[in-house]
Amino acid sequence: MYKQELSKDCVDFINDANITDLIKNTKEDTGQVKEIIAKSLDKKPLTVAETAALIAADSEESTELLFETARQLKQDVYGNRIVIFAPLYIGNKCINDCTYCAFRKSLRTTVRKTLAPAELVEQVTALEDAGHKRLILVFGEHPDYTPEYMAETVRQTYAIKHGNGEIRRVNINAAPLNYDGFKIMKEAGIGTYQVFQESYHHDTYAKVHPPSTHKGNYLYRQDSLTRAWESGCDDVGIGALFGLYDWRFEVLGMVTHSRYLADRFNCGPHTISFPRIRPAHGVELDEQYLVNDRDFKRLVAILRLAVPYTGMILTARETPEIRREVMEFGVSQIDAGTRIELAGYTKDGEQELNKEQFEIGDTRPMDEIIMELISNKYIPSFCTSCYRQGRTGEQFMEFAVPGFIQNFCTPNAMFTLAEYLEDYASAPTKDAGYKLILDEVAHMPNEKDRISAVTHLDEIRKAGKRDIYL
Ligand code: SF4
Repeated sequence: MYKQELSKDCVDFINDANITDLIKNTKEDTGQVKEIIAKSLDKKPLTVAETAALIAADSEESTELLFETARQLKQDVYGNRIVIFAPLYIGNKCINDCTYCAFRKSLRTTVRKTLAPAELVEQVTALEDAGHKRLILVFGEHPDYTPEYMAETVRQTYAIKHGNGEIRRVNINAAPLNYDGFKIMKEAGIGTYQVFQESYHHDTYAKVHPPSTHKGNYLYRQDSLTRAWESGCDDVGIGALFGLYDWRFEVLGMVTHSRYLADRFNCGPHTISFPRIRPAHGVELDEQYLVNDRDFKRLVAILRLAVPYTGMILTARETPEIRREVMEFGVSQIDAGTRIELAGYTKDGEQELNKEQFEIGDTRPMDEIIMELISNKYIPSFCTSCYRQGRTGEQFMEFAVPGFIQNFCTPNAMFTLAEYLEDYASAPTKDAGYKLILDEVAHMPNEKDRISAVTHLDEIRKAGKRDIYL
């Protein structure tokens, strides 16, 4: 494999002792909590110390106030739209040996597979036929999955069209790359590049990622999105795998990372992910740090307040019940109709764990999830406008901060939902979807915007026009 390069001014911005002291010494202070809540409602990102104060505020009263504020902030910044995507696993060969993963190299019973070009066409076509417009391609770390190979897979994915079906944004979840690698990915037209630190706690990181493996290099991984950003990949996604170590430490680690990127590039991460560890083939779960549902809801709400302008991704790892509850605390993106088995989108039947990285909690089909969102007054959105209008990285933040994005997000969400209702939805979902859209249009404050929205919706509904966005 290649030599792992670091960015010029690379520093390890995680100080375990400081974070541990913060967790140990920060006590609940309702007065301070109220001040922090006020700052959050002003949509100001929180400091690491303020985030620690919210973590310490564990009383029912403070927790209710936290949940209420997170709901309000979600509404103020993201409105009621939920962006929909699907993961597509391309290959699960891997040279690493992460103890929590069914794809680790030492686990011989895992079925290894890399999609052949014809299988990629089948999988993407199946996803398009379900109505998807946004995908995240997932790769293990292996000499076969070079930046050139991954970039070509991205181009092939964009080139696959079926009827009105097309993928308009391809994000990536793969191993860290050197500068050249990230440049190759950017040139292929990717959206977000996600690299999860898994654990920000140095000792835990070393324990679950054998130092002899490529992934064993903590600093190379921590520095990766800095290299990505400097290579032009300005939509980056961070994350931690909750259950490896103390969730409070990981939350403070992610906030530290967000602030580091914001200070260095004047723009925080585009997305933040907070997957909870799940049962997986050949994995013995260490239950010491498993996160219970109450703490999971708290950490989602705390992150919503700490990084107000970062998209929050809640995946099908979680059960439908938890997703339903947690979504209101600030989640802005979910996957739907997910299958994580290689070539799983053309396969019926039960999950086969020896073919998957972990067991998922929500296996409902796309239309059922879309219908539930609509019933809960969320607008499912397949929008890819910002990315295609060049509103990425700092530019996106400029638009998001004043809340202008509202003027783009809601109409664009409605247009992409109308496409879904016309081309892919079941009859009940179509009825409910149009009721929601007409209600949304009726509540648009500005008459000019209302007329423009109705005109575009008619173009989609009556004239068969597609891909309308502002
Ligand atoms: S977590 Fe990723 S890098 Fe680690 S073994 Fe699994 S696929 Fe490989």
